[in-house]
Amino acid sequence: MNEAVKPEKIRCDACPVMCYIADGRSGACDRYANAGGELVRLDPLTILENRLEDGGDVVPFLASSESEGVDSGQSRFITAVGAGTTYPDYKPAPFIVSSEVNGVDMITVVTEGIFSYCGAKVKIDTDRHLGHECSPVRVEGEQIGHVTTAEYGSQMLSLGGVNHLTGGSKKEGRVTCDALLRLCNGEPVEMTIDDGATLIVEAGKPPIVNGTQENVMRVGCGSATVGMFAAQWKGLVDEVIVVDDHITGVMSEHQAGKVIGWPETGIKINGRRSTPGRYFQVAEPGTGWGGTDLDDPLKIIGKFNPKTAWPGLSILMVSTTGEHAAYYELNEDLEPVEKDMPPRLKPSAERIAENCEPAMTSVLFMAGAGGSLRAGTTENPIGLTRSVQAAITTVTSGGAPVFVWPGGGITFMVDVTRMPKNSFGHVPTPALVAPIEFTMRAEDYRALGGHMDYVMPLQDAVNGVRAKQNDHILSGARSVGSKKGNPWPLS
Ligand code: SF4
Repeated sequence: MNEAVKPEKIRCDACPVMCYIADGRSGACDRYANAGGELVRLDPLTILENRLEDGGDVVPFLASSESEGVDSGQSRFITAVGAGTTYPDYKPAPFIVSSEVNGVDMITVVTEGIFSYCGAKVKIDTDRHLGHECSPVRVEGEQIGHVTTAEYGSQMLSLGGVNHLTGGSKKEGRVTCDALLRLCNGEPVEMTIDDGATLIVEAGKPPIVNGTQENVMRVGCGSATVGMFAAQWKGLVDEVIVVDDHITGVMSEHQAGKVIGWPETGIKINGRRSTPGRYFQVAEPGTGWGGTDLDDPLKIIGKFNPKTAWPGLSILMVSTTGEHAAYYELNEDLEPVEKDMPPRLKPSAERIAENCEPAMTSVLFMAGAGGSLRAGTTENPIGLTRSVQAAITTVTSGGAPVFVWPGGGITFMVDVTRMPKNSFGHVPTPALVAPIEFTMRAEDYRALGGHMDYVMPLQDAVNGVRAKQNDHILSGARSVGSKKGNPWPLS
């Protein structure tokens, strides 16, 4: 009796985990599988078409008749999304593709990089206090990053990085990797900040702070708001205070008020006076008026000077988004008493709100292309680094433009919303997998010691011809249009 022959496992060597994979199963990262003894990269290769994005379907590779003449780099670009990784990278990158642009021969080196040194810089458009600088940011109780320096109208988080991925406990690394992966692939991630807020952040969407969606970012700091709208308030109200956690502005004292002849009111603000009409630290940071912890803005006002103030003096208090606004008049004891907002002042609060931009969450993936990744491009890795630094070689990520940091190495940042959907993967080391493409003139590639023997025409790559250095085959291709606003990677 014949015993069924059990197919042998094959070994994936696309990352240091080196999985043995049985037929019909996938490896630990779900990126590679064993299909009848062939190692298959499961996600389709993403081919960028020179048209605006309208979705994109997964298809088998194109029949040659359909794809004739496609080696013009002006119409198609092979991204690294789904291209696979060659590890360790003394091997050439999975695809080294030639194309022609305006009569110039170009080379694009395409690989999915495995990044241990990587993370995300997250900009959250809100005035609300999310947490003190350096406070830990946690997911499932594990620290995945920290609060970093605030920017104008936005709070900033620095997430991931090698210390959280590999320098802590196994769980910390796994949770950090998973949170980064979801964030970079455009999924919402819930996180908490020690002694601060609970957040749900998603690239390109409004942040949710303590369960409330943030709608607008401030028009400016309190001082700037006073300056911007001073002329519009003149003659409508006796005093305006724009409440802001960073700089609270007071019209009658501010230079903007002085210039247009705003009368003094004898107001006193409880805070640290920086310059006339500009006050720091009027309250504690929080999620109330203008990013302070105030729910009653009168707490920042001291006694009015009886030599200057008068009964009936009118006061508008407003936050930097116009979200909070209240109107007061001084009584006979020169104490502010809240009154209904007069119709004449409503348009000014609405004008502030109108000038606020929608609040968004921005996620920039940041990583350093390691020495071994560079060796997949050239036998002399420093040549690639110098070529990138000299702007001879262009770096893209999934076809999206990147910012390359000055100084040593190839350290880049990319807006994840400008990349094709689901561009990121992971391996359990743990590390993130992200697409990276290096494009340059063929003569420059040759000059920097590129792997010329492994160059294949763009048309072959589009047709699904197997690259000779690839231990794996591809499962298919998806064709996607360019994201609006992205320059064509080969332009
Ligand atoms: S984790 Fe994924 S890439 Fe790494 S060896 Fe296993 S299947 Fe291959």
